[in-house]
Amino acid sequence: MTADSTHPLVLVADDDEISRLFIVETLEQAGFNIVAVADGAAALDAAVTQVFDLALLDVDMPHLDGYELCRAVRSSMELKYLPVVMITGHDDAASITQAYEAGATDFIAKPVNWTLLPHRLRYILRNADADRRLRHLAYHDQLTGLPNSQALPALVATAISRAESTGCGEGVALLQVRVQACGRIRSVFGLDEGEAALRAFAQRLEISVAAAHRDADRTSVARIDGDRFVVCLRDRFILERATALAEQLVAALDTPVSCGEHQFFLPPTIGIAISPDHGSEPTALITHAAAATLHALQTDARGCVIYSAGIGDRARERLALEAVLREAVRTEQLTLYFQPKIRVSDGSLVGVEALLRWFSPELGEVTPDRFVPLAEESGLILDIGRWVSQAACRQLMNWRNEGLETTIAINLSARQFVHDNPAAIIEAAALASAIDPKMIVVEITESALIADFDSVQAGLQAVRALGCRIAIDDFGTGYSSLAYLKGLPVDELKIDRSFIRHLGSDRVDAAICTAVLSLAREVGLNVTAEGVETEVQLDWLRAHGCNEAQGYFIARPMPGHQILSRYRNGSPMAYAGANVA
Ligand code: C2E
Ligand code: CA
Ligand code: CA
Repeated sequence: MTADSTHPLVLVADDDEISRLFIVETLEQAGFNIVAVADGAAALDAAVTQVFDLALLDVDMPHLDGYELCRAVRSSMELKYLPVVMITGHDDAASITQAYEAGATDFIAKPVNWTLLPHRLRYILRNADADRRLRHLAYHDQLTGLPNSQALPALVATAISRAESTGCGEGVALLQVRVQACGRIRSVFGLDEGEAALRAFAQRLEISVAAAHRDADRTSVARIDGDRFVVCLRDRFILERATALAEQLVAALDTPVSCGEHQFFLPPTIGIAISPDHGSEPTALITHAAAATLHALQTDARGCVIYSAGIGDRARERLALEAVLREAVRTEQLTLYFQPKIRVSDGSLVGVEALLRWFSPELGEVTPDRFVPLAEESGLILDIGRWVSQAACRQLMNWRNEGLETTIAINLSARQFVHDNPAAIIEAAALASAIDPKMIVVEITESALIADFDSVQAGLQAVRALGCRIAIDDFGTGYSSLAYLKGLPVDELKIDRSFIRHLGSDRVDAAICTAVLSLAREVGLNVTAEGVETEVQLDWLRAHGCNEAQGYFIARPMPGHQILSRYRNGSPMAYAGANVA
Protein backbone atom coordinates (compact mmCIF):
# COMPACT_ATOMS: atom_id res chain seq x y z
CA MET A 1 0.00 0.00 0.00
CA THR A 2 1.25 3.50 -0.74
CA ALA A 3 1.50 5.90 2.16
CA ASP A 4 -1.93 7.40 1.51
CA SER A 5 -4.62 4.75 1.78
CA THR A 6 -7.54 7.16 1.36
CA HIS A 7 -6.09 8.32 -1.96
CA PRO A 8 -4.76 5.11 -3.52
CA LEU A 9 -2.39 5.46 -6.46
CA VAL A 10 -3.79 3.80 -9.58
CA LEU A 11 -1.98 3.12 -12.86
CA VAL A 12 -4.33 3.43 -15.82
CA ALA A 13 -3.29 2.11 -19.25
CA ASP A 14 -5.66 2.63 -22.17
CA ASP A 15 -4.84 3.60 -25.79
CA ASP A 16 -8.30 5.08 -26.38
CA GLU A 17 -7.97 8.73 -25.42
CA ILE A 18 -11.63 9.34 -24.68
CA SER A 19 -12.03 6.27 -22.56
CA ARG A 20 -8.76 7.10 -20.71
CA LEU A 21 -10.00 10.65 -19.98
CA PHE A 22 -13.28 9.29 -18.61
CA ILE A 23 -11.53 6.86 -16.34
CA VAL A 24 -9.15 9.52 -15.01
CA GLU A 25 -11.94 11.98 -14.47
CA THR A 26 -14.18 9.47 -12.64
CA LEU A 27 -11.48 8.08 -10.40
CA GLU A 28 -9.96 11.46 -9.53
CA GLN A 29 -13.35 12.71 -8.46
CA ALA A 30 -13.69 9.66 -6.23
CA GLY A 31 -10.41 10.51 -4.49
CA PHE A 32 -7.93 8.31 -6.35
CA ASN A 33 -4.52 9.51 -7.52
CA ILE A 34 -3.90 8.54 -11.12
CA VAL A 35 -0.99 7.99 -13.46
CA ALA A 36 -2.36 7.44 -16.95
CA VAL A 37 -0.45 6.08 -19.96
CA ALA A 38 -1.44 5.21 -23.52
CA ASP A 39 0.22 1.81 -24.10
CA GLY A 40 1.48 -1.34 -22.41
CA ALA A 41 5.20 -0.58 -22.67
CA ALA A 42 4.78 2.82 -20.99
CA ALA A 43 2.66 1.14 -18.30
CA LEU A 44 5.42 -1.37 -17.50
CA ASP A 45 7.97 1.44 -17.29
CA ALA A 46 5.76 3.35 -14.88
CA ALA A 47 5.07 0.24 -12.79
CA VAL A 48 8.73 -0.43 -12.09
CA THR A 49 9.59 3.15 -11.21
CA GLN A 50 6.63 3.94 -8.94
CA VAL A 51 4.76 2.00 -6.27
CA PHE A 52 1.09 1.61 -7.23
CA ASP A 53 -1.83 0.28 -5.24
CA LEU A 54 -3.64 -1.02 -8.30
CA ALA A 55 -3.38 -1.19 -12.10
CA LEU A 56 -6.35 -0.77 -14.42
CA LEU A 57 -5.45 -2.11 -17.87
CA ASP A 58 -7.26 -2.05 -21.16
CA VAL A 59 -6.99 -5.36 -22.96
CA ASP A 60 -6.55 -4.03 -26.50
CA MET A 61 -3.46 -1.86 -26.73
CA PRO A 62 -0.67 -1.56 -29.30
CA HIS A 63 2.87 -2.98 -28.67
CA LEU A 64 2.14 -4.81 -25.43
CA ASP A 65 -1.50 -5.74 -24.90
CA GLY A 66 -3.21 -5.97 -21.53
CA TYR A 67 -2.76 -9.75 -21.22
CA GLU A 68 0.98 -9.61 -21.95
CA LEU A 69 1.40 -6.69 -19.61
CA CYS A 70 -0.41 -8.58 -16.86
CA ARG A 71 1.80 -11.64 -17.34
CA ALA A 72 4.91 -9.43 -17.16
CA VAL A 73 3.64 -7.94 -13.90
CA ARG A 74 2.98 -11.36 -12.36
CA SER A 75 6.43 -12.67 -13.22
CA SER A 76 8.20 -9.73 -11.59
CA MET A 77 9.26 -10.14 -7.96
CA GLU A 78 8.32 -6.60 -7.00
CA LEU A 79 5.02 -6.41 -8.85
CA LYS A 80 3.83 -9.95 -8.32
CA TYR A 81 1.13 -8.97 -5.84
CA LEU A 82 -0.09 -5.75 -7.50
CA PRO A 83 -3.87 -5.97 -7.95
CA VAL A 84 -4.58 -5.84 -11.70
CA VAL A 85 -8.02 -5.09 -13.07
CA MET A 86 -8.56 -5.65 -16.83
CA ILE A 87 -11.04 -3.75 -18.92
CA THR A 88 -12.26 -6.30 -21.43
CA GLY A 89 -13.97 -5.02 -24.51
CA HIS A 90 -15.92 -8.19 -24.78
CA ASP A 91 -18.11 -9.64 -22.13
CA ASP A 92 -17.56 -13.13 -23.46
CA ALA A 93 -16.36 -16.16 -21.53
CA ALA A 94 -13.17 -16.63 -23.58
CA SER A 95 -11.72 -13.17 -22.98
CA ILE A 96 -12.63 -13.31 -19.29
CA THR A 97 -10.88 -16.67 -18.95
CA GLN A 98 -7.90 -15.23 -20.79
CA ALA A 99 -7.77 -12.28 -18.38
CA TYR A 100 -7.76 -14.57 -15.35
CA GLU A 101 -5.18 -16.85 -16.91
CA ALA A 102 -2.89 -13.90 -17.43
CA GLY A 103 -3.16 -13.34 -13.67
CA ALA A 104 -5.76 -10.58 -13.49
CA THR A 105 -7.27 -9.95 -10.07
CA ASP A 106 -10.62 -8.97 -11.57
CA PHE A 107 -12.11 -7.61 -14.79
CA ILE A 108 -14.57 -4.95 -15.86
CA ALA A 109 -16.51 -5.24 -19.09
CA LYS A 110 -17.04 -2.39 -21.51
CA PRO A 111 -19.20 -0.32 -21.60
CA VAL A 112 -17.91 0.71 -18.18
CA ASN A 113 -20.46 1.53 -15.52
CA TRP A 114 -18.92 4.80 -14.28
CA THR A 115 -20.86 5.00 -11.04
CA LEU A 116 -19.84 1.53 -10.05
CA LEU A 117 -16.17 1.75 -11.08
CA PRO A 118 -14.73 3.53 -7.99
CA HIS A 119 -16.67 1.28 -5.61
CA ARG A 120 -15.47 -1.81 -7.40
CA LEU A 121 -11.86 -0.66 -7.18
CA ARG A 122 -12.13 0.18 -3.47
CA TYR A 123 -13.57 -3.27 -2.84
CA ILE A 124 -10.65 -4.90 -4.68
CA LEU A 125 -8.18 -2.77 -2.74
CA ARG A 126 -9.69 -3.83 0.58
CA ASN A 127 -9.28 -7.49 -0.32
CA ALA A 128 -5.77 -6.88 -1.55
CA ASP A 129 -4.95 -5.26 1.76
CA ALA A 130 -6.20 -8.29 3.69
CA ASP A 131 -4.12 -10.53 1.38
CA ARG A 132 -1.10 -8.39 1.96
CA ARG A 133 -1.48 -8.72 5.72
CA LEU A 134 -1.73 -12.50 5.48
CA ARG A 135 1.31 -12.59 3.21
CA HIS A 136 3.18 -10.43 5.65
CA LEU A 137 2.41 -12.88 8.44
CA ALA A 138 3.50 -15.84 6.35
CA TYR A 139 6.73 -14.26 5.16
CA HIS A 140 7.87 -12.40 8.24
CA ASP A 141 9.26 -13.40 11.59
CA GLN A 142 6.90 -12.42 14.42
CA LEU A 143 9.63 -11.61 16.89
CA THR A 144 11.75 -9.24 14.83
CA GLY A 145 9.49 -8.31 11.92
CA LEU A 146 12.25 -9.36 9.52
CA PRO A 147 11.61 -11.56 6.46
CA ASN A 148 11.68 -15.25 7.50
CA SER A 149 12.99 -18.46 5.98
CA GLN A 150 9.92 -18.68 3.71
CA ALA A 151 10.83 -15.35 2.20
CA LEU A 152 14.57 -15.93 1.93
CA PRO A 153 14.85 -17.95 -1.32
CA ALA A 154 12.85 -15.36 -3.29
CA LEU A 155 14.85 -12.56 -1.72
CA VAL A 156 18.12 -14.19 -2.78
CA ALA A 157 16.78 -15.03 -6.24
CA THR A 158 15.89 -11.39 -6.83
CA ALA A 159 19.34 -10.25 -5.72
CA ILE A 160 21.01 -12.79 -8.03
CA SER A 161 18.92 -11.88 -11.07
CA ARG A 162 19.49 -8.18 -10.46
CA ALA A 163 23.22 -8.70 -10.14
CA GLU A 164 23.23 -10.65 -13.40
CA SER A 165 21.18 -8.06 -15.24
CA THR A 166 23.40 -5.08 -14.32
CA GLY A 167 26.17 -6.59 -16.45
CA CYS A 168 28.93 -4.80 -14.54
CA GLY A 169 30.36 -7.66 -12.53
CA GLU A 170 28.04 -7.53 -9.57
CA GLY A 171 27.82 -10.55 -7.29
CA VAL A 172 25.69 -11.58 -4.35
CA ALA A 173 26.91 -12.57 -0.91
CA LEU A 174 24.98 -14.37 1.79
CA LEU A 175 26.22 -13.95 5.32
CA GLN A 176 24.67 -16.38 7.74
CA VAL A 177 25.00 -14.79 11.15
CA ARG A 178 24.47 -16.86 14.30
CA VAL A 179 24.25 -15.52 17.82
CA GLN A 180 24.60 -18.43 20.21
CA ALA A 181 24.73 -16.23 23.27
CA CYS A 182 20.95 -15.69 23.03
CA GLY A 183 20.31 -19.39 23.74
CA ARG A 184 22.43 -19.19 26.86
CA ILE A 185 20.68 -16.01 27.96
CA ARG A 186 17.35 -17.77 27.56
CA SER A 187 18.44 -20.73 29.68
CA VAL A 188 19.83 -18.54 32.43
CA PHE A 189 17.40 -15.59 32.49
CA GLY A 190 14.30 -17.11 30.89
CA LEU A 191 12.37 -16.92 27.65
CA ASP A 192 11.54 -13.20 27.80
CA GLU A 193 15.14 -12.13 28.27
CA GLY A 194 16.22 -14.53 25.51
CA GLU A 195 13.71 -12.99 23.11
CA ALA A 196 14.62 -9.45 24.13
CA ALA A 197 18.26 -10.27 23.42
CA LEU A 198 17.33 -11.64 19.98
CA ARG A 199 15.35 -8.49 19.18
CA ALA A 200 18.21 -6.30 20.35
CA PHE A 201 20.60 -8.32 18.24
CA ALA A 202 18.37 -8.02 15.16
CA GLN A 203 18.21 -4.28 15.64
CA ARG A 204 21.97 -3.92 16.03
CA LEU A 205 22.41 -6.08 12.94
CA GLU A 206 20.02 -4.00 10.83
CA ILE A 207 21.56 -0.72 11.93
CA SER A 208 25.09 -1.94 11.23
CA VAL A 209 24.15 -3.27 7.80
CA ALA A 210 22.46 0.03 6.95
CA ALA A 211 25.47 1.99 8.20
CA ALA A 212 27.86 -0.11 6.14
CA HIS A 213 25.76 0.14 2.98
CA ARG A 214 23.85 3.35 2.44
CA ASP A 215 22.12 1.89 -0.61
CA ALA A 216 19.29 -0.01 1.10
CA ASP A 217 18.35 -1.55 -2.21
CA ARG A 218 21.49 -3.69 -2.13
CA THR A 219 21.08 -5.28 1.27
CA SER A 220 18.45 -7.23 3.14
CA VAL A 221 18.35 -8.90 6.53
CA ALA A 222 16.25 -11.95 7.39
CA ARG A 223 15.83 -14.17 10.46
CA ILE A 224 15.61 -17.78 9.41
CA ASP A 225 15.07 -19.44 12.80
CA GLY A 226 16.27 -19.51 16.39
CA ASP A 227 19.61 -17.76 16.55
CA ARG A 228 20.19 -17.65 12.79
CA PHE A 229 20.02 -14.53 10.65
CA VAL A 230 20.98 -13.94 7.03
CA VAL A 231 22.31 -10.79 5.44
CA CYS A 232 22.08 -10.68 1.66
CA LEU A 233 24.36 -8.22 -0.12
CA ARG A 234 24.57 -7.31 -3.82
CA ASP A 235 27.60 -5.39 -5.03
CA ARG A 236 30.70 -5.32 -7.20
CA PHE A 237 33.95 -6.79 -5.77
CA ILE A 238 31.57 -8.91 -3.78
CA LEU A 239 34.10 -10.99 -1.85
CA GLU A 240 35.95 -7.93 -0.52
CA ARG A 241 32.71 -6.13 0.27
CA ALA A 242 31.25 -9.15 2.03
CA THR A 243 34.32 -9.72 4.21
CA ALA A 244 34.46 -6.03 5.02
CA LEU A 245 30.78 -6.14 6.02
CA ALA A 246 31.39 -9.19 8.21
CA GLU A 247 34.24 -7.38 9.96
CA GLN A 248 32.04 -4.34 10.50
CA LEU A 249 29.33 -6.53 12.01
CA VAL A 250 31.78 -8.21 14.35
CA ALA A 251 33.10 -4.79 15.40
CA ALA A 252 29.59 -3.39 15.88
CA LEU A 253 28.70 -6.28 18.19
CA ASP A 254 31.87 -5.93 20.20
CA THR A 255 30.14 -3.53 22.59
CA PRO A 256 27.41 -4.87 24.88
CA VAL A 257 23.76 -4.64 23.90
CA SER A 258 21.27 -3.32 26.47
CA CYS A 259 18.23 -5.44 27.23
CA GLY A 260 16.08 -4.03 30.00
CA GLU A 261 18.26 -3.90 33.07
CA HIS A 262 20.92 -6.19 31.63
CA GLN A 263 23.84 -5.69 29.29
CA PHE A 264 24.83 -8.63 27.13
CA PHE A 265 27.69 -9.37 24.78
CA LEU A 266 26.24 -10.95 21.64
CA PRO A 267 29.24 -11.95 19.51
CA PRO A 268 28.19 -13.20 16.06
CA THR A 269 29.58 -16.18 14.16
CA ILE A 270 29.45 -15.55 10.41
CA GLY A 271 29.66 -17.85 7.39
CA ILE A 272 29.83 -16.36 3.89
CA ALA A 273 28.94 -17.82 0.50
CA ILE A 274 29.03 -15.76 -2.69
CA SER A 275 27.41 -15.99 -6.07
CA PRO A 276 28.46 -16.86 -8.73
CA ASP A 277 31.62 -18.46 -7.22
CA HIS A 278 29.82 -20.80 -4.79
CA GLY A 279 26.65 -21.35 -6.79
CA SER A 280 24.04 -19.33 -8.60
CA GLU A 281 20.98 -21.04 -7.13
CA PRO A 282 19.47 -19.54 -3.97
CA THR A 283 19.28 -22.93 -2.22
CA ALA A 284 22.94 -23.71 -2.93
CA LEU A 285 24.02 -20.33 -1.57
CA ILE A 286 21.87 -20.68 1.53
CA THR A 287 23.23 -24.18 2.29
CA HIS A 288 26.81 -23.14 1.65
CA ALA A 289 26.58 -20.10 3.90
CA ALA A 290 25.13 -22.38 6.60
CA ALA A 291 27.98 -24.89 6.12
CA ALA A 292 30.52 -22.07 6.46
CA THR A 293 28.91 -20.88 9.71
CA LEU A 294 28.87 -24.40 11.10
CA HIS A 295 32.53 -24.69 10.21
CA ALA A 296 33.25 -21.41 11.99
CA LEU A 297 31.47 -22.69 15.10
CA GLN A 298 33.22 -26.05 15.05
CA THR A 299 36.67 -24.61 14.57
CA ASP A 300 36.00 -21.84 17.05
CA ALA A 301 36.89 -19.33 14.35
CA ARG A 302 36.50 -15.77 15.56
CA GLY A 303 34.66 -13.51 13.15
CA CYS A 304 33.86 -15.09 9.83
CA VAL A 305 34.57 -18.06 7.58
CA ILE A 306 34.21 -18.00 3.79
CA TYR A 307 32.75 -21.08 2.16
CA SER A 308 35.17 -23.31 0.27
CA ALA A 309 34.87 -26.63 -1.51
CA GLY A 310 36.68 -28.20 1.46
CA ILE A 311 33.90 -27.11 3.79
CA GLY A 312 31.34 -28.55 1.40
CA ASP A 313 33.27 -31.83 1.32
CA ARG A 314 33.31 -31.97 5.08
CA ALA A 315 29.57 -31.30 5.22
CA ARG A 316 29.01 -34.13 2.72
CA GLU A 317 31.40 -36.36 4.63
CA ARG A 318 29.37 -35.75 7.79
CA LEU A 319 26.20 -36.74 5.97
CA ALA A 320 27.86 -39.92 4.70
CA LEU A 321 29.16 -40.71 8.17
CA GLU A 322 25.70 -40.17 9.57
CA ALA A 323 24.29 -42.74 7.15
CA VAL A 324 26.92 -45.30 8.19
CA LEU A 325 26.28 -44.55 11.85
CA ARG A 326 22.57 -45.12 11.38
CA GLU A 327 23.37 -48.54 9.97
CA ALA A 328 25.82 -49.18 12.82
CA VAL A 329 23.11 -48.50 15.40
CA ARG A 330 20.74 -50.81 13.55
CA THR A 331 23.24 -53.67 13.29
CA GLU A 332 24.60 -53.17 16.82
CA GLN A 333 28.18 -52.35 15.87
CA LEU A 334 28.47 -50.16 18.94
CA THR A 335 29.95 -51.55 22.12
CA LEU A 336 30.84 -50.22 25.54
CA TYR A 337 34.29 -50.04 27.07
CA PHE A 338 34.75 -49.36 30.73
CA GLN A 339 37.28 -47.13 32.43
CA PRO A 340 37.99 -47.76 36.11
CA LYS A 341 37.71 -45.01 38.64
CA ILE A 342 39.71 -45.47 41.83
CA ARG A 343 39.86 -44.13 45.35
CA VAL A 344 43.03 -42.03 45.48
CA SER A 345 43.89 -43.00 49.07
CA ASP A 346 44.17 -46.75 48.49
CA GLY A 347 43.77 -47.42 44.77
CA SER A 348 40.57 -49.43 45.25
CA LEU A 349 37.95 -49.53 42.52
CA VAL A 350 34.99 -47.25 43.18
CA GLY A 351 33.28 -47.71 39.87
CA VAL A 352 33.64 -47.68 36.11
CA GLU A 353 32.58 -45.25 33.41
CA ALA A 354 30.90 -46.72 30.33
CA LEU A 355 32.34 -45.23 27.14
CA LEU A 356 30.99 -45.89 23.66
CA ARG A 357 33.16 -47.57 21.08
CA TRP A 358 32.35 -47.94 17.39
CA PHE A 359 34.29 -50.51 15.41
CA SER A 360 33.03 -50.04 11.87
CA PRO A 361 33.78 -52.68 9.21
CA GLU A 362 34.13 -49.86 6.65
CA LEU A 363 35.82 -47.12 8.67
CA GLY A 364 37.71 -48.94 11.38
CA GLU A 365 37.52 -47.54 14.89
CA VAL A 366 35.65 -44.25 15.00
CA THR A 367 36.17 -42.25 18.20
CA PRO A 368 33.20 -40.93 20.18
CA ASP A 369 34.51 -37.39 19.73
CA ARG A 370 33.65 -37.80 16.06
CA PHE A 371 30.40 -39.69 16.18
CA VAL A 372 28.72 -38.54 19.40
CA PRO A 373 28.29 -34.90 18.20
CA LEU A 374 26.97 -36.26 14.90
CA ALA A 375 24.56 -38.54 16.73
CA GLU A 376 23.40 -35.56 18.77
CA GLU A 377 22.75 -33.41 15.72
CA SER A 378 20.88 -36.13 13.86
CA GLY A 379 18.82 -37.34 16.82
CA LEU A 380 20.44 -40.80 16.68
CA ILE A 381 21.69 -40.17 20.20
CA LEU A 382 18.22 -41.05 21.47
CA ASP A 383 18.43 -44.63 20.19
CA ILE A 384 22.08 -44.87 21.17
CA GLY A 385 21.40 -43.49 24.64
CA ARG A 386 18.67 -46.04 25.28
CA TRP A 387 20.97 -48.81 24.17
CA VAL A 388 23.79 -47.53 26.44
CA SER A 389 21.51 -47.65 29.50
CA GLN A 390 20.42 -51.20 28.73
CA ALA A 391 23.91 -52.45 27.87
CA ALA A 392 25.37 -50.87 31.03
CA CYS A 393 22.76 -52.56 33.23
CA ARG A 394 23.30 -55.91 31.51
CA GLN A 395 27.04 -55.56 32.13
CA LEU A 396 26.49 -54.85 35.83
CA MET A 397 24.34 -57.97 36.04
CA ASN A 398 26.99 -60.11 34.32
CA TRP A 399 29.75 -58.82 36.59
CA ARG A 400 27.62 -59.43 39.66
CA ASN A 401 26.98 -63.00 38.52
CA GLU A 402 30.76 -63.40 38.21
CA GLY A 403 31.40 -61.97 41.65
CA LEU A 404 32.21 -58.30 40.95
CA GLU A 405 30.01 -55.64 42.51
CA THR A 406 30.64 -52.09 41.36
CA THR A 407 28.92 -48.94 40.17
CA ILE A 408 28.68 -47.78 36.58
CA ALA A 409 28.63 -44.24 35.22
CA ILE A 410 26.85 -43.50 31.95
CA ASN A 411 27.13 -40.33 29.89
CA LEU A 412 23.89 -38.61 28.89
CA SER A 413 23.62 -35.79 26.40
CA ALA A 414 21.34 -32.77 26.79
CA ARG A 415 19.27 -33.91 23.85
CA GLN A 416 18.21 -37.00 25.71
CA PHE A 417 16.79 -34.80 28.46
CA VAL A 418 14.98 -32.57 25.99
CA HIS A 419 13.51 -35.26 23.74
CA ASP A 420 13.46 -38.37 25.90
CA ASN A 421 12.79 -39.41 29.46
CA PRO A 422 16.11 -40.68 30.83
CA ALA A 423 14.63 -41.58 34.23
CA ALA A 424 12.03 -43.87 32.65
CA ILE A 425 14.64 -45.43 30.36
CA ILE A 426 17.10 -46.09 33.17
CA GLU A 427 14.35 -47.43 35.41
CA ALA A 428 13.23 -49.93 32.76
CA ALA A 429 16.81 -50.97 31.96
CA ALA A 430 17.65 -51.45 35.65
CA LEU A 431 14.51 -53.47 36.23
CA ALA A 432 15.20 -55.73 33.23
CA SER A 433 18.63 -56.65 34.64
CA ALA A 434 17.58 -56.62 38.30
CA ILE A 435 19.96 -53.76 39.07
CA ASP A 436 19.44 -51.25 41.88
CA PRO A 437 19.47 -47.75 40.28
CA LYS A 438 21.76 -46.74 43.18
CA MET A 439 24.52 -48.53 41.27
CA ILE A 440 24.18 -46.06 38.39
CA VAL A 441 25.84 -42.66 38.10
CA VAL A 442 24.58 -40.28 35.44
CA GLU A 443 27.21 -37.97 33.94
CA ILE A 444 26.20 -34.80 32.14
CA THR A 445 28.62 -32.21 30.83
CA GLU A 446 28.55 -28.72 32.19
CA SER A 447 27.95 -27.24 28.73
CA ALA A 448 24.99 -29.57 28.03
CA LEU A 449 23.54 -28.48 31.32
CA ILE A 450 23.68 -24.85 30.38
CA ALA A 451 22.43 -25.32 26.84
CA ASP A 452 19.05 -26.55 28.07
CA PHE A 453 18.93 -25.78 31.73
CA ASP A 454 15.21 -26.25 32.30
CA SER A 455 14.77 -29.65 30.66
CA VAL A 456 18.02 -30.94 32.08
CA GLN A 457 17.22 -29.76 35.58
CA ALA A 458 13.80 -31.44 35.59
CA GLY A 459 15.23 -34.62 34.03
CA LEU A 460 18.08 -34.79 36.55
CA GLN A 461 15.66 -34.47 39.41
CA ALA A 462 13.68 -37.43 38.10
CA VAL A 463 16.86 -39.48 37.69
CA ARG A 464 17.94 -38.57 41.20
CA ALA A 465 14.54 -39.52 42.59
CA LEU A 466 15.12 -42.97 41.12
CA GLY A 467 18.20 -43.29 43.30
CA CYS A 468 20.95 -42.66 40.73
CA ARG A 469 23.86 -40.37 41.55
CA ILE A 470 24.57 -37.31 39.39
CA ALA A 471 28.01 -36.18 38.23
CA ILE A 472 28.86 -32.98 36.36
CA ASP A 473 31.33 -33.93 33.64
CA ASP A 474 34.13 -31.80 32.16
CA PHE A 475 33.71 -29.44 35.08
CA GLY A 476 35.40 -26.08 34.58
CA THR A 477 35.04 -25.93 30.80
CA GLY A 478 31.49 -24.57 30.71
CA TYR A 479 30.37 -21.10 31.56
CA SER A 480 28.59 -21.90 34.75
CA SER A 481 29.21 -20.01 37.88
CA LEU A 482 29.31 -22.26 40.88
CA ALA A 483 26.14 -20.66 42.21
CA TYR A 484 24.45 -22.39 39.34
CA LEU A 485 24.92 -25.78 40.89
CA LYS A 486 22.78 -24.84 43.86
CA GLY A 487 19.52 -25.58 42.07
CA LEU A 488 20.73 -28.97 40.87
CA PRO A 489 20.74 -32.38 42.50
CA VAL A 490 24.49 -32.94 42.08
CA ASP A 491 26.63 -35.49 43.93
CA GLU A 492 29.91 -35.29 42.13
CA LEU A 493 32.13 -33.02 40.04
CA LYS A 494 34.55 -34.39 37.48
CA ILE A 495 37.36 -31.89 36.98
CA ASP A 496 38.08 -31.70 33.28
CA ARG A 497 41.34 -33.24 32.16
CA SER A 498 42.57 -29.97 30.67
CA PHE A 499 43.10 -28.73 34.24
CA ILE A 500 44.78 -31.95 35.34
CA ARG A 501 47.25 -32.09 32.47
CA HIS A 502 49.65 -29.50 33.86
CA LEU A 503 49.20 -30.18 37.54
CA GLY A 504 52.58 -29.95 39.18
CA SER A 505 53.84 -27.41 36.63
CA ASP A 506 51.09 -24.86 35.95
CA ARG A 507 50.17 -22.65 38.90
CA VAL A 508 46.89 -21.46 37.39
CA ASP A 509 45.63 -25.01 36.83
CA ALA A 510 46.72 -25.93 40.33
CA ALA A 511 44.84 -22.91 41.71
CA ILE A 512 41.68 -23.90 39.82
CA CYS A 513 41.86 -27.48 41.09
CA THR A 514 42.47 -26.28 44.63
CA ALA A 515 39.46 -23.96 44.40
CA VAL A 516 37.18 -26.68 43.03
CA LEU A 517 38.33 -29.09 45.75
CA SER A 518 37.74 -26.66 48.57
CA LEU A 519 34.36 -25.62 47.22
CA ALA A 520 33.34 -29.25 46.85
CA ARG A 521 34.42 -30.01 50.42
CA GLU A 522 32.36 -27.09 51.66
CA VAL A 523 29.16 -28.18 49.94
CA GLY A 524 29.78 -31.90 50.43
CA LEU A 525 30.38 -32.92 46.81
CA ASN A 526 32.59 -35.75 45.73
CA VAL A 527 35.38 -34.83 43.26
CA THR A 528 36.89 -37.02 40.55
CA ALA A 529 39.95 -35.92 38.62
CA GLU A 530 39.73 -36.97 34.97
CA GLY A 531 42.61 -37.78 32.64
CA VAL A 532 45.28 -38.57 35.22
CA GLU A 533 48.29 -39.60 33.14
CA THR A 534 51.24 -39.38 35.52
CA GLU A 535 52.28 -40.25 39.02
CA VAL A 536 53.08 -36.58 39.64
CA GLN A 537 49.45 -35.67 38.98
CA LEU A 538 48.13 -38.45 41.17
CA ASP A 539 50.47 -37.45 44.00
CA TRP A 540 49.34 -33.82 43.73
CA LEU A 541 45.70 -34.91 43.89
CA ARG A 542 46.30 -37.13 46.92
CA ALA A 543 48.16 -34.33 48.68
CA HIS A 544 45.30 -31.92 48.02
CA GLY A 545 42.51 -34.17 49.21
CA CYS A 546 40.91 -35.22 45.93
CA ASN A 547 38.99 -38.41 46.62
CA GLU A 548 38.79 -40.13 43.28
CA ALA A 549 40.72 -40.34 40.03
CA GLN A 550 40.41 -41.74 36.57
CA GLY A 551 42.91 -41.72 33.70
CA TYR A 552 45.39 -43.62 31.57
CA PHE A 553 47.87 -43.77 34.47
CA ILE A 554 45.35 -45.86 36.39
CA ALA A 555 43.81 -47.73 33.49
CA ARG A 556 42.61 -47.13 29.97
CA PRO A 557 39.01 -47.91 28.99
CA MET A 558 38.77 -51.68 28.38
CA PRO A 559 36.21 -54.36 27.48
CA GLY A 560 34.00 -55.74 30.23
CA HIS A 561 35.81 -59.06 30.63
CA GLN A 562 39.12 -57.30 31.33
CA ILE A 563 37.52 -55.28 34.12
CA LEU A 564 36.41 -58.58 35.58
CA SER A 565 39.83 -60.23 35.46
CA ARG A 566 41.53 -57.15 36.93
CA TYR A 567 39.16 -56.33 39.72
CA ARG A 568 37.24 -59.47 40.71
CA ASN A 569 39.65 -60.36 43.45
CA GLY A 570 40.07 -56.87 44.86
CA SER A 571 41.98 -54.02 43.27
CA PRO A 572 45.52 -54.17 41.95
CA MET A 573 47.41 -51.97 44.41
CA ALA A 574 50.09 -50.83 42.04
CA TYR A 575 49.14 -49.09 38.84
CA ALA A 576 51.02 -51.66 36.81
CA GLY A 577 49.20 -52.65 33.67
CA ALA A 578 47.93 -49.10 33.50
CA ASN A 579 48.51 -49.08 29.81
CA VAL A 580 46.33 -52.01 28.90
CA ALA A 581 44.61 -50.92 25.68
P1 C2E B 1 34.17 -38.00 28.68
O1 C2E B 1 32.86 -38.39 29.26
O2 C2E B 1 34.85 -36.83 29.30
O3 C2E B 1 35.04 -39.29 28.74
C1 C2E B 1 36.40 -39.29 29.07
C2 C2E B 1 37.22 -39.37 27.84
O4 C2E B 1 38.60 -39.17 28.17
C3 C2E B 1 37.16 -40.73 27.17
O5 C2E B 1 37.33 -40.52 25.79
C4 C2E B 1 38.38 -41.42 27.75
O6 C2E B 1 38.85 -42.48 26.93
C5 C2E B 1 39.36 -40.29 27.76
N1 C2E B 1 40.41 -40.46 28.77
C6 C2E B 1 40.35 -41.14 29.92
N2 C2E B 1 41.50 -41.06 30.58
C7 C2E B 1 42.33 -40.31 29.82
C8 C2E B 1 43.68 -39.84 29.98
O7 C2E B 1 44.37 -40.13 30.96
N3 C2E B 1 44.17 -39.05 29.00
C9 C2E B 1 43.46 -38.72 27.89
N4 C2E B 1 44.04 -37.94 26.97
N5 C2E B 1 42.18 -39.12 27.73
C10 C2E B 1 41.63 -39.91 28.69
P2 C2E B 1 36.36 -41.21 24.78
O8 C2E B 1 36.03 -42.58 25.22
O9 C2E B 1 36.98 -41.00 23.45
O10 C2E B 1 35.03 -40.36 24.90
C11 C2E B 1 35.01 -39.04 24.51
C12 C2E B 1 33.71 -38.41 24.87
O11 C2E B 1 32.63 -38.97 24.14
C13 C2E B 1 33.33 -38.59 26.33
O12 C2E B 1 34.02 -37.69 27.11
C14 C2E B 1 31.85 -38.32 26.27
O13 C2E B 1 31.61 -36.94 26.26
C15 C2E B 1 31.46 -38.86 24.92
N6 C2E B 1 30.84 -40.19 25.13
C16 C2E B 1 31.44 -41.39 25.27
N7 C2E B 1 30.51 -42.34 25.49
C17 C2E B 1 29.29 -41.73 25.50
C18 C2E B 1 27.94 -42.18 25.69
O14 C2E B 1 27.64 -43.34 25.95
N8 C2E B 1 26.95 -41.23 25.59
C19 C2E B 1 27.23 -39.93 25.38
N9 C2E B 1 26.22 -39.06 25.31
N10 C2E B 1 28.48 -39.48 25.20
C20 C2E B 1 29.51 -40.36 25.27
CA1 CA C 1 32.06 -38.72 31.17
CA1 CA D 1 34.83 -35.73 31.01
